[in-house]
Amino acid sequence: MPDNTVVTEALQLFTSLQELKKAYYKKIEKQHPSFTAEQWRQHNEKGIFLLQFCLPVLDDNICKELVDEICNLLAANQPAKKEQIEKIRDYLCKKSSDCFTEIMKHEHQVMDPPSSFSVEECSLMNIIVRQTLRPFLEKYTDSLPREIGGEKWQRNYCPVCGEKANFSYLRQEDGKRVLICPFCGQEWLYRYLACSWCGNDDHKAISYFEAVELPGYEVYLCERCHRYLKTFNTKKGIGHDDWVLEDVKTINLDLIAQKKGYTGYSSQAH
Ligand SMILES: [Zn+2]
Ligand SMILES: [Zn+2]
Repeated sequence: MPDNTVVTEALQLFTSLQELKKAYYKKIEKQHPSFTAEQWRQHNEKGIFLLQFCLPVLDDNICKELVDEICNLLAANQPAKKEQIEKIRDYLCKKSSDCFTEIMKHEHQVMDPPSSFSVEECSLMNIIVRQTLRPFLEKYTDSLPREIGGEKWQRNYCPVCGEKANFSYLRQEDGKRVLICPFCGQEWLYRYLACSWCGNDDHKAISYFEAVELPGYEVYLCERCHRYLKTFNTKKGIGHDDWVLEDVKTINLDLIAQKKGYTGYSSQAH
């Protein structure tokens, strides 16, 4: 198996980031997203995700404070990247929350980063930006009606922000598959044996593997698009943590799937 210090370090970082997110969630004012009847119709019938109609309201000061705190956590966790983190902190702290709003509207990453930023710096910056937006997005999703992402949606992208899932679980009560959004945290139902990347539902073109050291986990592999998705089967596993942390705890499954030649969420640009 791969070196587990990677998992331990990532878990430490994400545990701190989750705590930070929870503390800021309380500071952020309640969001009041509202939609017209026509927008609900377009959402349900045409699959238009909700951020295309109404975005979370950001707070300039909270965004800046969060960027600062996230950078501190990252620098403490990865001292070798301190210089790069400072460069990103400087850049982001000069931006207003309008820049973060733009990011939610478009690709969920910084558009047109300065040319002096390396690819690695850009991806680090995107992690910081996405972490900054997360408590605002959670406040937003928590104020939406319960039926969002229910039986009616069944699409392979998030009903709130449009992003593809990075993780899924089989629900305890009825075994239905729930996909999880890596950007806003929204959950939604999707067909059990269909690829969440390309929609392929030819059972012969979908397989899965398990690893004894991570009981309860199945990794679905699609032969059509060569992508994979980690899934926690609540019937096989014994309890679980927050899904963000479960995703980190199972990094070894990503490494196995990638070694087999499949692409997952973590190896995307985000
Ligand atoms: Zn989402
Ligand atoms: Zn596929």
